[in-house]
Amino acid sequence: MNRVEHSAFIGVIILDAGWHYTYINEYAAKILNRTPDELLGKVAWAEFPAAIRYACYDQLHKAFKNKVEVHFEEYIKSSNQWVRVSAYPFGGSLHIALHKPDFAEISSLLESEYYLKYTENFQDLITVTSVDGKFRYLSPAIQPLLGYEVDEMVGTRILTYCHSDDTEILRSILMDENHATAADQGMITCRFLHKKGWYVWFEKNYKWMLDEDGKRSQILGIWRDITERKLVEERFVQAQRLGQFGSFERYLNDEYCIWSEEMYRIHGLDPLDSMALSEAIKPIVSDDRDKVALAFETAIQVGISEVEYRIVRNDGEVRHLKSQIERVIRDNGRTAVRGLIHDITTYKQIETELKRSKANLEIAQEIAGLGHYDWDVIRNDLYWSDELFVLFHMRREYFGNTIEAFFNAVHPDDTVKVKEAIRDSLHGGLLDLVYRIIVNETEVRMIHTMAKTTYDEWGRPLRLFGTMQDITIQKQTEELLRKTEKLNVAGQLAAGIAHEIRNPLTALKGFAKLMCQANEESKLRYFQIMQEEFNRIELILGELLILAKPQVVAFKPHDTKAILSEVIELLNTEAIMSDVIIELDCEPDLPLVKCERNQLKQVFVNMIKNAIEAMPNGGGLDVSVKKAAGGVALYFADQGLGISEERLPRIGEPFYTTKEKGTGLGVMVSFAIIDEHQGHIEYQSKLGVGTTVLIQLPAFS
Ligand code: ADP
Ligand code: MG
Repeated sequence: MNRVEHSAFIGVIILDAGWHYTYINEYAAKILNRTPDELLGKVAWAEFPAAIRYACYDQLHKAFKNKVEVHFEEYIKSSNQWVRVSAYPFGGSLHIALHKPDFAEISSLLESEYYLKYTENFQDLITVTSVDGKFRYLSPAIQPLLGYEVDEMVGTRILTYCHSDDTEILRSILMDENHATAADQGMITCRFLHKKGWYVWFEKNYKWMLDEDGKRSQILGIWRDITERKLVEERFVQAQRLGQFGSFERYLNDEYCIWSEEMYRIHGLDPLDSMALSEAIKPIVSDDRDKVALAFETAIQVGISEVEYRIVRNDGEVRHLKSQIERVIRDNGRTAVRGLIHDITTYKQIETELKRSKANLEIAQEIAGLGHYDWDVIRNDLYWSDELFVLFHMRREYFGNTIEAFFNAVHPDDTVKVKEAIRDSLHGGLLDLVYRIIVNETEVRMIHTMAKTTYDEWGRPLRLFGTMQDITIQKQTEELLRKTEKLNVAGQLAAGIAHEIRNPLTALKGFAKLMCQANEESKLRYFQIMQEEFNRIELILGELLILAKPQVVAFKPHDTKAILSEVIELLNTEAIMSDVIIELDCEPDLPLVKCERNQLKQVFVNMIKNAIEAMPNGGGLDVSVKKAAGGVALYFADQGLGISEERLPRIGEPFYTTKEKGTGLGVMVSFAIIDEHQGHIEYQSKLGVGTTVLIQLPAFS
């Protein structure tokens, strides 16, 4: 075919539905006395308003509107010549051929050739196929659309490239030379295989061309890519990368096979042009070879098969592969076997790991009332264990198995938090989160989830595996406990005071009654008892009053050593009576502390009294004062009974006492006073060894 020679005398114009020039070749432009650049994108009738009065206006409208081809001759004023015009509607556009009348007789075969030239720049694919379904002509658009070169495909059969689901429809339309079923022209959609392995969706406008006898001779097709091609390519590359699959192909009985690049990568080999069969078999683990051979045999016999097997790379690494094998008949009539290989090693490893830990996990979960989930990040496939369906009050049948299905159950105020936590965890990190879900549309429940992400060898997240636990009850109990605790302290205090004071008051009431009838001698005895009870009330109230902070507290700089000496002086008699020896040891140059003198005295009295009382059989009490960061540290170290570990936390609770006549207020009051002084008290004690109380006070500044 001599394309250049003929096409030089054929003008070609393509107009879209809005009458815009979408294509115009040099020759057509010359006939219109313009250049292609001047016309591209312009509206025909706006450029040539005078043409509206001519035949072409009606003719072209007719072609467009009725979807019929039209042929007419027209005088073109701008170039002063008669031109024969043929217009063919195709999809949404009108294809117009302009001939010089001398070429009007050119056969239908030649007529088709006008497509040949202009289609070189045209993004749609144009094909001419013969009645036996072979490509006679393909426009260069084939390369960007399907990856093949024109020469590769000319002479090959159209059905070879077609998706198997579409071959029937294509066959019925394209190869029916008897006008039996299919119309002369029409439109179908079908998928064609890209050279690199994915399918492209096409919308194909076709039209039979007839020979002189009115028989169908060849078919003209205009193919528009309706796949978002770029997107598919990207997905394919991404899928190949993520899915780690390679492919191979081998003609039956050939000693060589063709491997894809990824196939070599999976095998840890450098790519070669072809692979000797004997070499290709070598890496397969010997135990698995029979299985692979059988799969090949099945594919050859039945058409398709699947096999899982292992290979050993040169470096000794074992990889698990899964192969889907299919039989294909190549255009030259030879049978070939091709296969898709999927590297499933990572999945296998995770699977075994999971299996191993599954037994333990199940036991643990049963004990803890845990449910677990496993989210396949790549496929967005979310697995839930049975416990989770119970927890969420959901039925497995109605669960979407996607992460979105889960998000639907999350409390709306917590979704952002949950999504963020999951995202962070995918980027490396443990998921440890408490959030709320809504069950039965109204009930709010608290969930604690912990999860971990697993990654592939390139660090991309594969799956998120984790547990969920309903902690609603725990949370409610915690809350309740905190509230009762507060009430307890206040309640204890009030009840304690009432109790402590009511006892002596009852005694006083009784004795007051008795006093009325008593003789002088009894009166005196009663009076003494009553005095003691009054003292007790006074003591309790006195201690409690210190808690109710006096209005004016004068914090002044004082010397702790001086205050301590005074207190020891005061209590020494009592100590000696209990066989307790008090020793005071003060570092020189102690800083003064800012304090309310009497209150601090009260604290020291409490400390020393408790120490003495802790040593019923005598012992030593070492009181020492040292310089400490920002102030002074006072130690009251006794050799008394000590306090057990369980009791230590109770020290300082109001009315906590282990003594028969104790009030259980001393330590509590001391805590309050030291707190007021911005200081700190600490109890260290060992049962049977002794107790040391450390009091820290800030220096006066
Ligand atoms: P009370 O001395 O009236 O019992 P406190 O509040 O002063 O009340 O002390 C509360 C309790 O703390 C005491 O009953 C005692 O059990 C314990 N305690 C305080 N200091 C000491 C100490 N130095 N050694 C042993 N136990 C002590
Ligand atoms: Mg005490």
